[in-house]
Amino acid sequence: MKNKLNELIKSSIEAKKNSYSPYSKFKVGAAILTEKGNIFSGANVECASYSLTICAERVAAVKAISSGESIFKYIAIATNKKQIAFPCGACLQFLTEFSNDLKIILVKSEKEYKIFEMKDLLPKNFVL
Ligand SMILES: [Zn+2]
Repeated sequence: MKNKLNELIKSSIEAKKNSYSPYSKFKVGAAILTEKGNIFSGANVECASYSLTICAERVAAVKAISSGESIFKYIAIATNKKQIAFPCGACLQFLTEFSNDLKIILVKSEKEYKIFEMKDLLPKNFVL
């Protein structure tokens, strides 16, 4: 599992390179490890109409789901900032749709990261 998590962290860092963020210059890469052991990554994609911007976390999630994998174990998130960055509320809500016990790895570098539990970052998610 340690090797798989290292691979996941590297994937999030690599995915950041494809960020389309000409407005904020805030590059984010995310990589999801599914229950089947596959990794899906994504980067944030901005739009001149700012509210249409899509976060890296949701890009990675949509890639996994549309490939037939919707049970997530871990998500690693890397940015181009010096400090780790927490996912936004919208992404947390979106991710809980597919995994209530998701572990969230906030990556500073390959060797420096912190792991959080979904229930700590979003203790009460919206449910229908
Ligand atoms: Zn977000």
